[in-house]
Order: sequence, then C-alpha cells, then structure tokens
Amino acid sequence: MTEVQRPPRDADAVVVGGGFYGAHIAAFLARRLRTVTLCERAPALLTRASYNNQARVHGGYHYPRSILTSLRSRANYPRFIAAYPAAIDRSFTKLYAIARRQSKVTAGQFAEFCRRIGAPVQPADAAQARRFDADHVEAVFEVEECAFDATALAQAVSAAMDAAGVQVCTGGAVRAVRAVRAVLPGGARRLRVQWGDAPGEATDADVVVLCTYSALNDLLADSGLPLVPLVHELTELALIEPPPALRGLGVTVMDGPFWSAMPFPAAGVHSLSHVRYTPHARWPDGGADGHAVRGDAVLRALPPSHAPHMQRDAARYLPEMAAARYLKSLWEVKTILPRSDVDDSRPILARPVDGAPGLVTVVGAKIDSVYDVEEALTAMLDSDGIR
Ligand SMILES: Cc1cc2nc3c(=O)[nH]c(=O)nc-3n(C[C@H](O)[C@H](O)[C@H](O)COP(=O)(O)OP(=O)(O)OC[C@H]3O[C@@H](n4cnc5c(N)ncnc54)[C@H](O)[C@@H]3O)c2cc1C
Repeated sequence: MTEVQRPPRDADAVVVGGGFYGAHIAAFLARRLRTVTLCERAPALLTRASYNNQARVHGGYHYPRSILTSLRSRANYPRFIAAYPAAIDRSFTKLYAIARRQSKVTAGQFAEFCRRIGAPVQPADAAQARRFDADHVEAVFEVEECAFDATALAQAVSAAMDAAGVQVCTGGAVRAVRAVRAVLPGGARRLRVQWGDAPGEATDADVVVLCTYSALNDLLADSGLPLVPLVHELTELALIEPPPALRGLGVTVMDGPFWSAMPFPAAGVHSLSHVRYTPHARWPDGGADGHAVRGDAVLRALPPSHAPHMQRDAARYLPEMAAARYLKSLWEVKTILPRSDVDDSRPILARPVDGAPGLVTVVGAKIDSVYDVEEALTAMLDSDGIR
C-alpha cells in the first residue's frame, strides 16, 4: 500500500476509517476512480472491530430467523474466501449444537433451514456428539464454516489497495466533512475532509465514504450533519486456550441466549462469546435519541469481565469447556442498525447524507457483507454519473 504522511489537497474520493470496510471499499473505488485516499486515525489498519470480533466467516447458519441475511451470507461467503484466501482458516471442524431448551429452533427446523438456504449440513459423528450434555443439547451438526485471520486480512487488503493505487494515511483522525462550493468552472459542489486543525489541512473530493463504524455519529455530529439511528453495545469477547481435545473444533450453540467458541486465528487461540454475557451495555444513538455517548469514552471505563460466567454456562452444554484457560478479553463497541433487533437480521447501511451530495455513510453488519455495500455504492456512483 502507498503510505503518505499527509493526505493530498485534492482527490476523486476519500474513505474515512481503515477497518476492513474502509480498506476494501477504498480498493474497490480505486478500480473505478483515479485518485483515492484512505484516512485512518489509528497508527495501523484493522485494529478496531475488524480485529475485535469472533472471526467467523458467516456461512448463513447463524440466522435461521432471517432467511434474507442467510441467503446473502451464502452468496457472499465464496466471494470473500476467493478474494482473501491467505486470511482463511479451515483447519478445524465446525459444529452447530441445538439447545434442548429455550432454543428458537428445533434440530429438525435447523436442518430444514440449512437445506433451504443450500448450506452443507450433516449430523456430527457420534464421538463428537457425545462430548455434549444430552440434557442440554438436542442434536449436533457438522457444517462448513471457516474463520478469518484479521492480521492476514489486513495484509491482504493492504496489498489490494496497493495494487489499485490507494494512498493511505494513518495516525490522524478526520475532524469533519463539509460540503463546499469548489473554485471550478461552474462552481460544482465538492466535499472538504478536514484532517488537521489548520484551514489548509483538508482534502477536497467528489466522493467521501464514511466507514467509521461505531464512531459514525461522532464524525457526523462534529460535521454538523444529520445523524444515523444506530444501536451500540459494549461487547466482551473472551480469548481462551481450549483443552487439547477441543483445539480442532469450533462450536456454536443455537438458537437464543447461548454461546460460541471457535478459533481466533490472529492470536492462535479460541474466542468465547455468549449471547447473554458478551454485551455489557447497550445504548441508542442518533435520530431522535441524539448523540449523548461516545463509544471511545465507554471503552475507557470497562466493567468487570463476564468471562467466568461465559465459561461456566458453556460447560453446562459442553463439559470439557470447564478445562479451558481464560487468557484475556477483547472489548469493542458493536454497532447495529435498529432493525436487527426485530428479526435478528444483519442489514447493512450504505446511504447518502442529506445536504452533502457525494457523502455516503456505511455500516457493515458482518465482514462478508462488504459485497452488499459494493453493490449499493456502484448504484449510487452510476446514478450520479461518477466514473
Ligand atoms: C463482538 C463482535 C463480534 C463480531 N463477530 C463477527 C464475526 O464473527 N464475523 C463477522 O463477519 N463480523 C463480526 N462482527 C462484526 C464485524 O466486526 C464488523 O461488521 C466489521 O468489523 C466492521 O468493520 P468496519 O471497517 O466498518 O469497522 P472498524 O474495523 O471498527 O473500522 C472503523 C475504523 O474507523 C476508524 N475511525 C473512526 N473514526 C475516525 C475518524 N474520525 N477519522 C479516521 N478514522 C476513524 C477507526 O479507528 C477504525 O479503524 C463482530 C463484531 C463485534 C463487535
């Protein structure tokens, strides 16, 4: 990737936020536009939610209550794997166990759902199934679902940006984005990305894409622009060393207030997340709720860990989990669109901002849904005649 000390004064497009979304989208835009700059406030790329997550490449299995999200995952899964092969970890067996009580699907419904979305599924072999407590688990299935290595993904997406000619500037936060009238024949409107304190420390561009995820409304508020209705959660992911017998397994217990333990390839350990214990706090943001809380302030005052609760509950379903060794927790602000609450779907946001032509806000739901954002961006650029 071409690293620059300072962003240029002028670019066709600026992408703000160097998580996976920003980096992938910058490379995507640079295949269509001449000059694309990526601005990331951290010293390195993919250090926030794109690292602090469960590393599951979603194969659709997770969403039996949202057929649309599952079908999008089925379409995006092979694309993501083909685009980033060096970041893919298939070295483990992936099991989905259906809880006997409180599950929102039965084993029969889960198997039928997999067949409907075309997701490979088969009963787990008897030795694997016997690991689970039969009082708590109705059935265990083996599926095809892999994990990604966030560090390898950062390298791969950086190489893609390099090949596409993206200029990357790290270590400085964008302060604001404003619509300005350019000193051009016809006085066309452009966008000014203010990345420094001095008036000249800014880049003018035709297209600006905000990929700042949990900090999206921070930047919109600082820019005096309309906020996007979002919901944030303070999340804790425990990193654990599983007992040797579980090292080659990824396990998800479905479908409700259960848990998941699977390889976290970037650190060579497993992650453990729990639907009840991973979220510590939750707050609405934007729209009528205003913008009272900044995620970064929440991350500076962390509550006590829930890891012991996660492990204790997991061991009720898979007794060998009691022997896992807790290492540390990854904390992050997870951002979802309010609609996700209703049906457990994972819609994406890729929307122009009122009053700022050319400015687009993006919030991705899962790593692979970047391809849904690509489609939405293509439609927007085509309709604005931007090539
Ligand atoms: C606990 C948890 C588990 C998850 N599990 C999975 C999973 O298993 N599989 C999956 O596919 N998805 C999962 N997700 C969702 C996934 O992590 C996100 O969809 C994805 O990482 C979002 O990528 P992003 O690039 O938009 O955000 P980020 O990676 O957070 O990138 C945003 C970037 O913007 C930068 N930024 C913010 N403000 C500014 C500014 N003003 N100027 C410059 N830069 C700025 C930040 O520093 C950051 O680097 C999970 C999320 C969480 C929190």
